[in-house]
Amino acid sequence: MAAKIIDGKKVAASIRLECKARVASLRERTGVVPGLAVILVGDNPASALYVGNKVKACAEAGIRSFRRQFPADIDADTLIATIESLNHDPTVHGILVQLPLPEHIDMRRVLKTIDVAKDVDGFHLYNVGGLVVGDTIFPPCTPYGVVRLLEYENIPVEGRNVVVVGASNIVGKPMALMLMQREATVSICHAKTRDLAQFTILADILVVAAGKPNLILPQMVRSGAVVIDVGINRLPDGRIVGDVDFEGVRQKAAYITPVPGGVGPMTVTMLLFNTITSAERTAGIASRAVVKEEVLLEPEG
Ligand code: NAD
Repeated sequence: MAAKIIDGKKVAASIRLECKARVASLRERTGVVPGLAVILVGDNPASALYVGNKVKACAEAGIRSFRRQFPADIDADTLIATIESLNHDPTVHGILVQLPLPEHIDMRRVLKTIDVAKDVDGFHLYNVGGLVVGDTIFPPCTPYGVVRLLEYENIPVEGRNVVVVGASNIVGKPMALMLMQREATVSICHAKTRDLAQFTILADILVVAAGKPNLILPQMVRSGAVVIDVGINRLPDGRIVGDVDFEGVRQKAAYITPVPGGVGPMTVTMLLFNTITSAERTAGIASRAVVKEEVLLEPEG
């Protein structure tokens, strides 16, 4: 039997409705309007498109957005000064720097400048550390979106074999950590993994984020597996596809995400979610993603 197709657009739409209601309630109770600052450096068309989508999604949810655009040759100090001023701006609850940055700018230094309480992308080392110890304020948006898709479909994670293909800092590694935290048995594969299929065939849940079309073929997937395709690839004919041979693998899997329309719509949605969480924290309202900071800040021993 063909796999159930996980409809990321539908799940994202329902979470966005929830976001809109949270924004309205926060505004009514406290007068606070969540604000997201989005920083774009250079004129990469894909980055400009992503930033445009984020700004539009904010407007639809009732979140105020602040777009800061700089030429590619901006010096790092100017960028850092902009972030520092946004850190002190009480109307800004989330700060996002669209990656990649031009090569002359030290990305780590830039990300480290973002106030951890406004790091809605979850890339600051403090939030990365929070993820490692199983407690974070802002889970990174793409893996968080995957977790929410699994939850929506009532797919259990605990005790299951999960294989994550791709080990980047923004998708693969945080994905593996989040699923490990949920007590899955996680293997992580990457470009240097020998014989990828010997790992993927064992997966109850296979998450693929490599950026290689047709990397995952039907013979690499266990019958009845859950296949989550994070990849986004543009083919020479202009079509957008994921990393999985969708038509072949859907005949074998129990669940599969399409590209487009699977994980993609969840990423921006979880950014809205994190931004609202940040505004709620500022206003002193507890929410789903808020963690016990006293635990995070306690000294070892
Ligand atoms: P990246 O290039 O930073 O990392 C790719 C990872 O895949 C690396 O760890 C690399 O070792 C691994 N890899 C590459 N070729 C491989 C192979 N043949 N076998 C096994 N592993 C291999 O990319 P990224 O930023 O993590 O993004 C991965 C993909 O996910 C891209 O297609 C990107 O466009 C997409 N993406 C989608 C969303 C979304 O919202 N759906 C968000 C972020 C990234």
